[in-house]
Formats: sequence, C-alpha cells, structure tokens
Amino acid sequence: MENRVYNFNPGPATLPLTVLQQAQAELLNYKGTGMSILEMSHRAKEFDEIVLGTEALFKELTGLGDDYRVLFCQGGASQQFAMLPLNFLTQGKSADYLITGSFADKAFKEAKKIGSAQIAATTADDKHNRIPTQEELTLQREAAYVHLTTNNTIYGTEWHYIPQTDAPLVADMSSDILSRPWEYQKFALIYAGAQKNLGPAGVTVVLIRQDMLSDINAALPTMFNYDTFASKNSMYNTPPTFSIYLLQLVLKWVQAQGGLTVLGQQNKEKAALLYEALDEDDFYRGHAQVESRSLMNVTFRLPNEELEKAFVAAAAEIGLAGLKGHRSVGGIRASIYNAMSPQGCETLASFMHDFKKRNR
Ligand code: PMP
Repeated sequence: MENRVYNFNPGPATLPLTVLQQAQAELLNYKGTGMSILEMSHRAKEFDEIVLGTEALFKELTGLGDDYRVLFCQGGASQQFAMLPLNFLTQGKSADYLITGSFADKAFKEAKKIGSAQIAATTADDKHNRIPTQEELTLQREAAYVHLTTNNTIYGTEWHYIPQTDAPLVADMSSDILSRPWEYQKFALIYAGAQKNLGPAGVTVVLIRQDMLSDINAALPTMFNYDTFASKNSMYNTPPTFSIYLLQLVLKWVQAQGGLTVLGQQNKEKAALLYEALDEDDFYRGHAQVESRSLMNVTFRLPNEELEKAFVAAAAEIGLAGLKGHRSVGGIRASIYNAMSPQGCETLASFMHDFKKRNR
C-alpha cells in the first residue's frame, strides 16, 4: 500500500494491514450500533462478546484448555514484574529468576522489593548473548515460582527449550508470544504486553492456570489481585476497550494465516534470510550466539558506529524503518514479529548485501 514502510520497530510494532483496514472501516459505526468501539460502554453486549471471544480465541490458538484463564490487564509487562510477586511471593517463600537480559533483570529487581528472590542463572558475564542450558540452572526445589523471559528483545536471544522445574513456571513472553507452536500448558502463568506480537499498547495479556488463583492473599489491593480480573472477566473496572478489540482482530488474523504452525514456519524462514546475510562473512557481526538466536529480534553490529548510522539512514531512505539498535547494545536491531511480511525481510536482506558491497 502506498506510503507504508517496512516497519522494524521493536514495539509498538507493525500490525497486519488488513487489521488496520478493518479497524478503520469499523471505526465510526461498529456493527450497526451507530457508535465507535472507542465510544461504547464496556458493559455493552457487543463489547462483552469481544472480551469473551478474545479469551476463547487465545485458548484455541495456544491449545490451552478450560483450566486456564486469559486476563486483560493494564500497566504493561512492567506492572507484571510487580504483580507476579505480589500475588505469589508469599512469606517464607523464595522465587527463582533466570536473568537473560534487561527485562529479566528488571523483573528480578521488582520481586526483591516485595519478597525473597534469587538468581538461578545469569548470562550477564557473556553480555547476554546466549540462553543458559538446563544444567546451568540452580533451581530451588520449593521455589514459589521460576521466572524467565522467553525472548530478550534488546539482546536478540530466545529460549528454544522449556526448562524443567519443580516449581510453577512463569514467563514474560512479551516479544515472542504466538510466534511458534509451543507447549503453553507447561507454564503456570504467561504475561505479555500486547504491543509487539498481539496488537496495540495499552493491554497486557495474562494467561494463568486456574489453580494458581486459589490462594491469593485477599488483602492485596483490588487491582493488583489476579483473581479480580479472573472473577470479573477483566471487567471489574473499565478495561482498555479499543486495545482489546484490536487484539481480537490480530488473533483472527493469526487464525486466518493458519495458526501458530504456519506462522512458526514463516518466522523461521524470515529470520533465516537475515541470519544468512549476517553469516556470509565478518562485515556484519551478530550479537547472539548461533544456538540462542531470536527469531523475533535480529541484533548485529557493523565494523564501526559511523557505518551503523549510515546503514540506518540509507535503509530509512528506501522505506526500511526502525532499525536502530537499543542504546544499551548499540548497532542494528531488526524486529520481525508475526506481522512483518516475508517480503519485508527479503527487502532488508537484499539491502544488507548492497550496503556491504558499497561500504566494505
Ligand atoms: N519484557 C519484555 C521482554 C519487553 O520486550 C518489554 C518491552 N520492550 C517489557 C517487558 C516491558 O514492557 P512494557 O513496556 O509493556 O512495560
């Protein structure tokens, strides 16, 4: 479509064009109600259908059964860093954190403010360029939970196995949820800010196994208690209605693509195009070790910072936007979530070849 760029931003990130077009078409008059979703009561039956339908579709896509609930919270993944220990890090318990990047570290630091938590593995000494092996994890048998970040958005690494734990497994999946078929049922709780793979900013999705809800401390402030969201279908108060509506459109798009199996294969192929371009010689240097590479965020350096600046600028000129790496790592980061098309990755790979030829 005219004037649309290939948008490699890490989040908020590119959305499927058909989703934006449908939202545009329905913006002024949602299903004959004569009003926009933006203007509609969250108690309206049309919105009730959206919330219940989105929960059902989420379970269908992930293969999770009725022993799970899908909650729609606010405050971003960052609020989950605190909400998780508030609910489950009870007195006398300690939680295990696997530190594979900045967000994992932030989650750990929030937990420490609330209770007892320990680092069960860290890759800080390797500049977070890899994922630890199962053997490296020093887990406590009686931990309240084990927390990991399945995809490290800044460093460009991703867990390709699910660690074995005795304690309930909790994951921040903000930047790779629904990107591949996975054993979602191995997790007791999963949370994700929507603004990468799921939709717009403003809604944070929590998938929680029902048994986790059974002994949450009732003295917690209402809006920090997962049970408030579960028992009221996320409508104890006014939820972020438009964000949930767009999330549902994105989930329908995922389903129409063929679900997680099809998207998972496509994501592998998309990432391979970029990693092949990196691996040709030593002009580009990937940050992540090969076996820990993320299929969502491809991070790399060029021979010097001047060339990196020139790369970002020249890419932007031909409609490849948002490639600047995170300030803590530098270099280039291409975020290629579900909604980035294979053509976008082909165009970037071909730009990488051209840029190298002109600048080596
Ligand atoms: N976790 C991960 C893995 C992230 O990538 C981000 C955002 N980039 C966050 C947490 C923080 O999310 P939010 O901005 O929704 O609080």
